[in-house]
Amino acid sequence: MLSTTTQLLRLSQGQLNLLEACPRKFQHTYLEKLSSPSDPEHEERQTLGSRFHLLMQQREMGLPIDSFLQVDVQLQRWMSSFANAAPEILTPAINDQTFRESEHYRTLQVQDYLLTVVYDLLIADNQQAQILDWKTYPKPLNKSKLAHNWQTRLYTYVLAETSEYLPENISMTYWFVQSEGNPQSIKFNYNAVQHEQTARKLNQLLSKLTNWLQRYQNNEQFPQVVEGSKACNYCQFATRCEREQSTAQESDDNQLSVNGTTLLSNLANIQEVSI
Ligand code: SF4
Repeated sequence: MLSTTTQLLRLSQGQLNLLEACPRKFQHTYLEKLSSPSDPEHEERQTLGSRFHLLMQQREMGLPIDSFLQVDVQLQRWMSSFANAAPEILTPAINDQTFRESEHYRTLQVQDYLLTVVYDLLIADNQQAQILDWKTYPKPLNKSKLAHNWQTRLYTYVLAETSEYLPENISMTYWFVQSEGNPQSIKFNYNAVQHEQTARKLNQLLSKLTNWLQRYQNNEQFPQVVEGSKACNYCQFATRCEREQSTAQESDDNQLSVNGTTLLSNLANIQEVSI
């Protein structure tokens, strides 16, 4: 009997961003798992950011967090300034019937892909649903770039597709805890027009990915961005891509074998899930 199991490729907003920015970079990063040497300063920032997220999750679950705050001045500062800036988020009204969950996880199948989202906090009542996201870097100046980021587009899209909420009743708010002065937020209200646009863009991008993956199995590389593109100037794969104007250097440790076996085996590196 034929198996009816379909293998879905799991994709996050970060992978969609990379795919849209440069398909070849997506290939190197996710199919071949190539990476640049780690930057200790960047790693430190990431660790601190992860700790803040963890702390917010513990707090939401009603677990004690004081012992963590006592030993970390930075976390203490972020937490207290956030509590001042957004008390309604951290201290909901007693007897509030609103649904709240941190690290709220959802998936949505589109074509042969399983799109996954994790909301830092989801607050929902019988009228509206708010997605909240914590960022431990200063508020960016360009709001339209953030609106176009796949995190904003995918997070709102998946909620509209997997819940009873109309797009108009969904919003997404980013909180930047490290902004000058107090933490600052940027809120995006979703609507039906954006929902249609995202559906179209998503389907186009995923169709392209399917096509590129099929070609990749025949040893064809994913497309690069156009020559002279600024994206190459700061890319760790500039040497590999022969876009040498870059000062960035990719790791020599991660040599890619381009024989068919290696490329095919690397395709399996994308996380898969059976349905
Ligand atoms: S160097 Fe340019 S073409 Fe190559 S992966 Fe980076 S951005 Fe893409």
